[in-house]
Amino acid sequence: MTDSERRAALAGVMGDPVLHSRSPLIFRKWFADHGIAGDYVRLRVAAEHFEAAFRGLAVAGFRGVNVTIPHKHAALALADEASEAARAIGAANTITFSGDGGIHADNTDGYGFFENLCSGAPGWSPGAAPALVLGAGGAARAVIHALLAGGVPEVRLTNRTRARAEELADHFGAGVTVVDWAERSAAADGAGLVVNTTSLGMTGQPPLEISLDAAKGAVVNDLVYAPLETDLLAEARRRGLTAVDGLGMLLHQARPGFRKWFGADPAVDEALRAQVLQG
Ligand code: NAP
Repeated sequence: MTDSERRAALAGVMGDPVLHSRSPLIFRKWFADHGIAGDYVRLRVAAEHFEAAFRGLAVAGFRGVNVTIPHKHAALALADEASEAARAIGAANTITFSGDGGIHADNTDGYGFFENLCSGAPGWSPGAAPALVLGAGGAARAVIHALLAGGVPEVRLTNRTRARAEELADHFGAGVTVVDWAERSAAADGAGLVVNTTSLGMTGQPPLEISLDAAKGAVVNDLVYAPLETDLLAEARRRGLTAVDGLGMLLHQARPGFRKWFGADPAVDEALRAQVLQG
């Protein structure tokens, strides 16, 4: 019997807040698809209790855990080893407990972003043109890492707080150019991709104000998925541009964890999207 067979098929997501997380819907669908008697639970843990809870899951037999705000940095710091992506992004979202006490950290947000883009915009060619990235928070780090690794020749980065964009440009080095937030519409000129990684456009947040006049032929992707059809995506579609919503990123970023923890390759398809949207 392998170590993985001895341990229960158990995983979860740790965050604060976490009750809104749709990850259990994703994992439960995949458990059903693959006939795995598993469970995936939401674990609300305050930052000051993170280390105790995190180490506790390892000894309680969890195969792994996803971590979200505010634990993504702490999880990376506590891991024994980390993937290149987690180290480059500076945060982890997918943790694997090896069963002999080892903790491995990965970051699959960039993978999820890239997979979603490639499946939602199959005609998009990363190397063909620069990408315009709006926002310089945690999600932007993963997006920029994936774009540069995928061969995008230039990332134009713009953020309300310019200093945060400059910090990211310093971190990633050549290939990232900072553009003033006031110039965000003009910066879409010649871009093959426009990505919103800010929280603007989310339910309860102000809308993202940008003109797509210069974004001729660009693919437009919004990381926001609540609502699914943001004003940005609706405007892109009105102009005949390819629009890719953010739900697919959420679904795809969960796949590496499922594969590693449960040894099966789960599908991201319409049935999964429908189930997650239904709640
Ligand atoms: P974050 O680290 O808090 O960053 C928030 C970003 O939004 C910053 O760039 C911030 O700019 C900008 N912003 C916030 N309010 C703004 C305003 N009024 N005007 C202009 N810019 C504003 O958050 P995050 O973790 O990167 O997440 C960002 C978004 O991505 C969220 O909507 C999240 O749900 C979404 N997301 C989606 C997925 C997915 O799987 N689809 C994955 C991760 C994140 P400043 O630096 O100036 O504050």
